[in-house]
Amino acid sequence: MSERVTIILVVEDEVAIRDMIGMSLERAGFRWLGAGSVEEARGVLADNAPELILLDWMLPGVSGLDFARQLRRDDNTRDMPVIMLTARDAEEDMIRGLEGGVDDYLTKPFSTRELVARIKSVLRRAGSGDEAPITIGPLTLEPASHRVRAGEEKIQLGPTEYRLLQFFMQHPERVFARDQLLDRVWGRNVYIDDRTVDVHIRRLRKALEPHQAAGLIQTVRGAGYRFSTQE
Ligand code: CA
Repeated sequence: MSERVTIILVVEDEVAIRDMIGMSLERAGFRWLGAGSVEEARGVLADNAPELILLDWMLPGVSGLDFARQLRRDDNTRDMPVIMLTARDAEEDMIRGLEGGVDDYLTKPFSTRELVARIKSVLRRAGSGDEAPITIGPLTLEPASHRVRAGEEKIQLGPTEYRLLQFFMQHPERVFARDQLLDRVWGRNVYIDDRTVDVHIRRLRKALEPHQAAGLIQTVRGAGYRFSTQE
């Protein structure tokens, strides 16, 4: 990586925890900005463009979860990676529910080592999401040129199918509900029916079919869709 300093926004209302996280970040070579509420975080984002947000779930006023969703619906912050900080007793299904809106989550209490490892992993994923080719199974996607190949064969995709496949390949082996896909792939600026997702999934599978890759886009009954190389 370059010498460029990475700035992280820490949104946490408990000052002691926020400062502790901040110290850990400094020691790991990051710069950080703090906010004690969503309102303060909005103020920070008005003047700064952090590379990543560490967002506490339980905040006074607007919750971290709601804020994460708002960030995803705003074109300016849509691609900003978010790691959610949750309490130990957070329900499993709630965490799964928010997975579409955040890049990762950490359960309190966590170690500095764990925190830094997760941040680096999310930043790597976000950074490589722009230009570096992604190869999974038979497919290679080249974000720089918007090309998709299966081995040497080129695959022709419409723009929406391309974005959908890119999102899936950036988040393999994870289930996304239709509305999560709408948020992340389409954005929420225009009203689109959930069934639109099915239409584009069908087109994507059809395009992948001649390359024996349609099975990578899996339907998970009652839950949504998943990109997976496993059965
Ligand atoms: Ca809190």
